[in-house]
Amino acid sequence: MYKALSLDGWETHGISHLIADTNVVPFDTPNHFRLGYMLDHGTLDTGHISPEVALRHRLRHSAAHVMADAVLGLFPEAKMAIGPPTQDGFYYDFDVSRPFTPEDLEQIEAIMVQRIAAGHPFRMEEIEREDAKALFSDQPYKLEIIEGLDEAEPITVYRHDEFVDLCQGPHVDSTGDIAAVKLLTVAGAYWRGDEHRPMLQRIYGTAFESREALDAHLARLEEAEKRDHRTLGRQLGLYSIHDEIGPGLIVWHPKGGLVRTLIEDYWRDLHKRWNYDSVYSPHIGRGSLWQTSGHLDFFRENMYGSLDVDEQEYFLKPMNCPFHIMIYRSSLRSYRELPLRYGELGTVYRYERSGVLHGLMRVRGFTQDDAHIFCRPDQVEDEIGGVLDLTFELLKAFGFSEYSIMVSTRPEKAVGDDDMWEHATASLRRSLEQRGLSFGIDEGGGAFYGPKIDINITDALGRAWQCTTVQFDFNLPQRFELNYQDDEGNRVQPYMVHRAILGSVERFFGVLLEHYSGAFPLWLAPVQAVIIPIADRHLEYAEKVSKTLATAGIRVDVDVRSDRMNQKIRNAQMQKVPYMLVVGDKEAEADSVSVRHRDEGDLGPMPVGKFTYRIAGEAVVPGAMPPSESTG
Ligand SMILES: [Zn+2]
Ligand SMILES: [Zn+2]
Repeated sequence: MYKALSLDGWETHGISHLIADTNVVPFDTPNHFRLGYMLDHGTLDTGHISPEVALRHRLRHSAAHVMADAVLGLFPEAKMAIGPPTQDGFYYDFDVSRPFTPEDLEQIEAIMVQRIAAGHPFRMEEIEREDAKALFSDQPYKLEIIEGLDEAEPITVYRHDEFVDLCQGPHVDSTGDIAAVKLLTVAGAYWRGDEHRPMLQRIYGTAFESREALDAHLARLEEAEKRDHRTLGRQLGLYSIHDEIGPGLIVWHPKGGLVRTLIEDYWRDLHKRWNYDSVYSPHIGRGSLWQTSGHLDFFRENMYGSLDVDEQEYFLKPMNCPFHIMIYRSSLRSYRELPLRYGELGTVYRYERSGVLHGLMRVRGFTQDDAHIFCRPDQVEDEIGGVLDLTFELLKAFGFSEYSIMVSTRPEKAVGDDDMWEHATASLRRSLEQRGLSFGIDEGGGAFYGPKIDINITDALGRAWQCTTVQFDFNLPQRFELNYQDDEGNRVQPYMVHRAILGSVERFFGVLLEHYSGAFPLWLAPVQAVIIPIADRHLEYAEKVSKTLATAGIRVDVDVRSDRMNQKIRNAQMQKVPYMLVVGDKEAEADSVSVRHRDEGDLGPMPVGKFTYRIAGEAVVPGAMPPSESTG
């Protein structure tokens, strides 16, 4: 629902200035930080991650130090900012007089290799605040970090050889433990992600425990670059982002809009089948609503400035929950009415620093496939089970068959009574177990307002994406005093569950684009078949075939341009159109088409009726009835 301001050990560090990805976690809880997707120069809570991941983080954090050491060797006037490990590597930001060149990177990497070969041990040291200031007196960014540290917190530095950095570790024992390292790119990055602060030079690199692991990673990176959704989005004409509109705000072009509509239509149909009610809510709401919900106290930094309406404060919605709650509260509820499932493709707006915006993955306005379930204690398990079944039906429809599942349990500081926590957590676990799904437990990693299940999907490149969250909430029902009348006439608080399956439509679209490398499965392809007349005299026949296909519900284009046939095929191939149908004299005479598939290549001539039947069968939306024999 919203982020707690105190992030357990994290916040008190000060050094760990964490970047929240508010697009990823629909109901924004503190615990996703623990996955360590992106943390600034700080510690890693190794209690919540696998030993392999923890080792890589130590390796990469250590490599970041070695890189800073090398940079200072070559550019003694460089000012160091921060250098954290990331999910796939590490970076370090420097304030330097000119951008780094590819030649600089080569030189820096060469020095790093020497430092690694020398096997310098890493040594931790606790120092006084004043000594820290003296030590970093010529490093203004480090001084700023020190200024921000809690007075009560001990300050630590890590040394290797002559190099010293303000740091909480952990590191590997020696630079020699960094088995394989590679510097990748340089990019500009604002200090603290703030466009009003200096622009720094960020060097990205990665490090692995073996040469083989590094090589495999580099091969994956190359493939990922080809699939970058920003490149594909442009190439396929799906969406764009304009400075004139504002960063992080998406406009959907006709083809992207069509795919999105198909996704949303599928989503709506699925939810109808799973007995969800479809609701709608406005984009703004009165300040007092967001006060009651707690957003103004706890989520304010992610909300936009207020609007004045009749001299009253209104806010753009960062979440849909309070609106659905008002629908629940609009009448006295009886136990007989429950469960209630309110679903909405609800567009929300959240502030993200411009430095962290990224294509469709991290935006400022996005549409959650949101739903809220209100139910009785005896319904909780069935409801969670239902959400899981719906989730896996949906993910399978979009071609995802591998996931990892995490259950997060009660943290130390929590609201809601113990029985509810226990019942909810047990229901989450049992629902997963009954379905034979394996899952990890993030003990104490839940939000303060309820336990949850997170599901990460694995894409074609083996990358994990967090999409689905099923989150109990014991806080909002209290704040809004929700109740229903039970069978004995008592007023009791319902269980409330927030859930999003896609997470956000924008982000899921980006994930799909990269997963399929732009070659959407037939049911999602914006153009399913393109007809390619060999010469102008075949245009009339092409139009006739087009009509037949369109009548069968196929999205078809005729390439009427005067390009040569091979050029048209190349173009359709670039646009990742599933079927190319070449028509000339022979085809017109035989009432046929020469079929070419984007992956399978030439499939030879086929009567128009037969092809229509084939493509209509393949294009069926998952979960829908297949076409009858009569089609085509
Ligand atoms: Zn460090
Ligand atoms: Zn919600």
